[in-house]
Amino acid sequence: MIRVAIDGPAGSGKSTIAKNLASKLDFEYIDTGAMYRAITLKALKSGINLEDESQYTFLQDTVLDIQNGKYIMDGEDVSESIRSVLVTNNVSTPSKLEVVRNYLVNYQRKICNQKNCIVDGRDIGTVVLPHAEVKIYLDATIECRARRRMLERKEKGINLTLDATIKEIELRDWKDSTRKISPLRCPEDAFVIDSTELSIDEVVSQIIKLINERSKKMSKHTYYEGQSVRGMIINVTRDAIYLTLDDETKAVIYDNDLKSYQEGQKLYDIYHEGEEFEALVKQVTKDKKTQEPLCILSTKLADEKAKLSLFEKLKEDDEIFKAKVTKVTSAGADLEYEGVKLFLPSKFIDLKEEALRTLRGQTLDVMVVYVNKDHLQVTVSNIMAMKKQHRLAKEAAFAALEEGMVVEGEVVNILPYGAIVSLGEVSGLLHQTEIDHKLVRNVASHLQVGQKVKVKILEIKDNKIALSMKALVKHPWEVLKEQYHVGDIFDGLVEKIIPAGLIIKLTDDYAGLMPRVEYSWFTNVKLEDEVHEGDTLKVKIKNIDDAKKRVSLSHKETLENTWADIKLQRGDTIDVVIAEINDKGALVNYKNVQGFLPVSEVTSAKRINRVDEVFAVGSTVSVMVRECDPSVAKLRVSAKALEIAKERATFNKYFAEQEKETPTSTIGDLIGNFDIKKEDK
Ligand code: C5P
Repeated sequence: MIRVAIDGPAGSGKSTIAKNLASKLDFEYIDTGAMYRAITLKALKSGINLEDESQYTFLQDTVLDIQNGKYIMDGEDVSESIRSVLVTNNVSTPSKLEVVRNYLVNYQRKICNQKNCIVDGRDIGTVVLPHAEVKIYLDATIECRARRRMLERKEKGINLTLDATIKEIELRDWKDSTRKISPLRCPEDAFVIDSTELSIDEVVSQIIKLINERSKKMSKHTYYEGQSVRGMIINVTRDAIYLTLDDETKAVIYDNDLKSYQEGQKLYDIYHEGEEFEALVKQVTKDKKTQEPLCILSTKLADEKAKLSLFEKLKEDDEIFKAKVTKVTSAGADLEYEGVKLFLPSKFIDLKEEALRTLRGQTLDVMVVYVNKDHLQVTVSNIMAMKKQHRLAKEAAFAALEEGMVVEGEVVNILPYGAIVSLGEVSGLLHQTEIDHKLVRNVASHLQVGQKVKVKILEIKDNKIALSMKALVKHPWEVLKEQYHVGDIFDGLVEKIIPAGLIIKLTDDYAGLMPRVEYSWFTNVKLEDEVHEGDTLKVKIKNIDDAKKRVSLSHKETLENTWADIKLQRGDTIDVVIAEINDKGALVNYKNVQGFLPVSEVTSAKRINRVDEVFAVGSTVSVMVRECDPSVAKLRVSAKALEIAKERATFNKYFAEQEKETPTSTIGDLIGNFDIKKEDK
């Protein structure tokens, strides 16, 4: 940063030169006179006694600002009003007061120390910026200054005589240079320019030259460690050689930094003033007394440079090595390896500053990031070493894992679609669909962070591991298939009655369906009348559909179908046994089934009220089948119909014989009004 302080009396051209310089160099122009003028304007406006320091309390609430070259006070642009004759004639009074100067000097220092700037005033090089990089004292004869001021005023329409202007300027100069606090003075180290005979451009180019020289000097002082330098010996003591380098920078080399030094030697016996000396810069520091740059030199450094090849090799081989921490600073840590100092910047170590401090004396794993032979600097990184170690460990862990392996892991993260399971150095994804055979909607309700889980490695691809928990558990369908087989008969729990039939529980995960037709051999049975939810029902596994994972059941197949062999047609003659007699007829046994003989179907010979009037229980009776439907277990028989049929057969036989004798007779003539249908009802 370069700060140019320009001081000088009124009208010496400070502001013109400063503005010019600022625009040419792109520096900030800070006009401190404008600030004294602004305070004067405010004091005048508030009507205080300008001489009375105690009345300047308004300073505390005064806000000054420079915006695009305009002077803003308390939010108001005062750039024009501070140039009035009234302000000019009064400005020296507030300017001599301590309260005003303290306030403004503080403010000026604050804004001047932020960037390159040209600052003009009366006390810049002496008070405001005593360490300004360039100091100028600008002057001109009183007549020249007065003429310049007159010209300036004329442009603004103000006409004053030369004499009056000289008087005004003289008075102001006298006041500014005789006041007690910060009087106008030429700083001792300022470059004085008398601008009486010089044009603006001439003054400006003189100052630019000075600035350039100064900045060159400043940049010359940027020596760096490892730099090869030449100098002249200016003093030799017992154990140190003092030199000035080519650009006047001071340098020193101590005995233990001399390659040829032997214990006990006195340096003044070997080295002498005026001799030339070459060495490498070991360290750049500041002279404690003068604060000027000081280079500490060494002739051993060349050897040290050679040592750096080792680190170039370590870098090339990407090797991790252990180095000892010798010093910890806020910038990082110094480490040592094979006698060479290494630098570990704090950004390359994963530790907070406090933790860093405790590292001194410890050994760290590091890798070389950068070898700068010129600066004799080896930069190492602990983070890089740790990352590599981690990567190697990860690779080893990957290599040890195989698809199909069953491993123990720990849930380390729950995601919306699964869980991350750590397997040590590596981790895998246990997808939501791999947690259980059943549908898992909310992962967190099945797993939690920290939980130990046994998982199977399904796939290792692109360094990603897919895991499964469910692969280690038999599918409930397999469990079912082990438990149930086609043909098995068991007591099943009726879970539900649905339009399709009964839902019968098989396992905790599966149920089977018993279709309605599978309940009974007979179609006239109503399921709801016989079975209720929660009942136990004997069922048989009819089918296990592996593809659809469905089991169908039957109840009727657990029961014998006595009607299965009953194949009777209407009109068939069978023998039945009277089993039971009631008011309506008799229950008759035929093979393994039961049929019914209505009382009206017993005989046509006489009217009877009960069957036992003709047949006794236990008697075998030949009957004719009137109706047989095994699907509804129905068999109706008639003894009467058989009787009639027999009679008809007798008639038929008789008439057949008669016909041979009287062929013209008809059957109708012979049987008269006999009506079979009527009898059947
Ligand atoms: O430079 P200019 O003429 O604008 O300055 C006005 C007045 O401000 C000066 O006469 C002086 O009294 C005061 N001043 C000062 N210290 C400065 C700048 C200006 O006392 N650094």
